[in-house]
Amino acid sequence: MKLSKLASEIAESPTFALNEEARLLRERGEPVINLGIGEPRNKTPIAAVLASGAKLTSGEVKYTPPDGLPAMKKAVIRYTEDNYNRLAAVENVIVTNGAKQSLFNIFYSILNPQDEVIVLAPYWVSYPEIIKMCYGVPVIVTPEDGTFTPNFAEIERAVTSYTRAIIVNSPNNPSGAIYPPELIAKIVEFCERKGFYLICDDIYHKLTFDRNVAHPAWEFTQRDIENSHVIVVNGVAKLYGMTGFRVGWVVAPRDLVKVMTNVQAQTTSCVSPVSQAAAEGALNGMQSVVEALRLQIENNRNVVLQEMKSFNGARLIPPQGTFYALPDLRAFGTSSVDMAKFLLKKALVVTVPGKEFGMEGFIRLSFAGSVKDVTEGMARIRWALDPTSPNEIYIGDKKLIRDWL
Ligand code: PMP
Repeated sequence: MKLSKLASEIAESPTFALNEEARLLRERGEPVINLGIGEPRNKTPIAAVLASGAKLTSGEVKYTPPDGLPAMKKAVIRYTEDNYNRLAAVENVIVTNGAKQSLFNIFYSILNPQDEVIVLAPYWVSYPEIIKMCYGVPVIVTPEDGTFTPNFAEIERAVTSYTRAIIVNSPNNPSGAIYPPELIAKIVEFCERKGFYLICDDIYHKLTFDRNVAHPAWEFTQRDIENSHVIVVNGVAKLYGMTGFRVGWVVAPRDLVKVMTNVQAQTTSCVSPVSQAAAEGALNGMQSVVEALRLQIENNRNVVLQEMKSFNGARLIPPQGTFYALPDLRAFGTSSVDMAKFLLKKALVVTVPGKEFGMEGFIRLSFAGSVKDVTEGMARIRWALDPTSPNEIYIGDKKLIRDWL
């Protein structure tokens, strides 16, 4: 069977693949803990349930304009004003099927074949794959000092005549790092000087801990949305725990939004009005739901930090935001893929190999789940790897003895 070379080369999403493996194990009755996928456990905020319910019961569930329902776009404009202190026009906003489709639409709309996008490691797995799907070339910049904070001089060195954009995700999936404001300011100035797009994936922007703040790129430019090179991506998946509704949005200069709207009209047509109503409900509803989720996640983060403190052989730069931790397990001398397989087999804990994020030797742990799962999952990982932890553990009603250390 002949298939597209480009499409065949796109990697499987490792988090979805691991999720499926965990589901199958669970179906066989195994007490698996999933620290793999980044998905909060909260119920959909009530304002979103009511708004989408009302849309459904109206029976008026039809195509919407490709760039989004006017009421949803209005909610995004208000969100942008409240959270970014920026006035967006309706022409600056497009609503998409999740932030993932926002990113696909952006890259498809800005890249010509062979154009390069600078991606800062550790990076979200999907960036390089989406860039490649749009005939672009991801250029990875990895901090040489072993931290999760990019080095500006290294970014400058990665520039070629093909560079079109830099993508920044702070707070960062998978490391939980928040980039310092001085670095964001430098990147903004650099992109404006060079005419590069600066794509800001702000999907975790309010999930920050210890009073840390993720400074948005717009804070560092005097230019208005129309004349700046900043493109902001956001959505309801993480802040409101509404992953299944599939709603994201982009705020960008109108020429770009126009092209993205045509791309969207010819691909997905639009986002379901039921989902758009839900997202609008969430954005216009009580914002205390976001703070409640943030507090629960910060508490889980503290559980992870507590476990890591006395974990021999593992090192962790404490996450300042998101719901991910990226411990360095290089001391164990195993590849990250083998490590994730080992942890699933021996401790029944799903993790994601750091290799997928450009960080071989590390593993990503998601602490978005229940505090019980996070506590138990961390205890099992320590039991499997740290020789100073107790030799026996109960997993379900099975007593397991560590016999490999
Ligand atoms: N960007 C980042 C950094 C993410 O972690 C995710 C979800 N894992 C997305 C974008 C995609 O979000 P959505 O579910 O809205 O498509």
